[in-house]
Amino acid sequence: PSGSEPATKIVINLERLQQLPADKVGPLARYAAAIQSQRGDYNGKVLSIRSEDLRSLSIIYDMTPGELTDQLIDWGVLPPEARPTA
Ligand code: C2E
Ligand code: C2E
Ligand code: C2E
Repeated sequence: PSGSEPATKIVINLERLQQLPADKVGPLARYAAAIQSQRGDYNGKVLSIRSEDLRSLSIIYDMTPGELTDQLIDWGVLPPEARPTA
């Protein structure tokens, strides 16, 4: 895979997110918690977020959306299928 293609369907694995160290995933975990709070959606194992949110998060992480997609897949927060194939 060529990498650096942004995910089009973003479904965050919340259980995996909780297992990762806060110094890596802190900003993402806070972002996800804020969306859960806004929706009143607290009971899911996964959380679907907007593709626009990937752009916001990539700015926070100082990466391109494609690089952040690769990082999230490496962490196991997104499934490998989240990477679009050219
Ligand atoms: P799907 O999109 O493949 O989601 C499968 C399951 O993942 C959902 O089953 C739900 O248990 C979980 N899930 C996905 N995103 C979230 C999330 O943001 N929060 C929470 N708490 N759980 C999430 P569920 O709810 O039985 O939905 C079954 C299918 O119904 C979904 O499959 C999707 O095709 C459709 N659906 C449900 N809600 C929506 C929605 O808001 N928009 C659209 N377009 N489809 C929806
Ligand atoms: P909002 O953006 O004004 O959206 C109001 C309602 O429209 C949402 O209520 C939801 O029922 C529906 N809605 C808007 N866009 C979508 C979409 O792409 N898919 C689906 N299935 N529904 C959509 P809800 O869910 O109670 O959210 C309340 C507010 O929380 C939203 O107001 C928005 O300000 C914020 N929010 C919720 N989820 C997200 C998210 O994933 N990302 C961002 N950036 N904000 C979110
Ligand atoms: P989804 O509900 O299957 O929506 C797929 C796409 O349809 C969204 O991609 C968005 O481009 C468009 N869309 C759906 N509803 C609305 C709407 O009310 N207003 C506008 N302007 N566009 C809409 P997107 O934004 O990448 O969102 C991906 C998924 O994230 C959504 O899939 C849904 O599962 C979740 N999501 C996003 N925003 C909200 C929200 O406000 N509340 C809830 N509960 N889920 C949301």
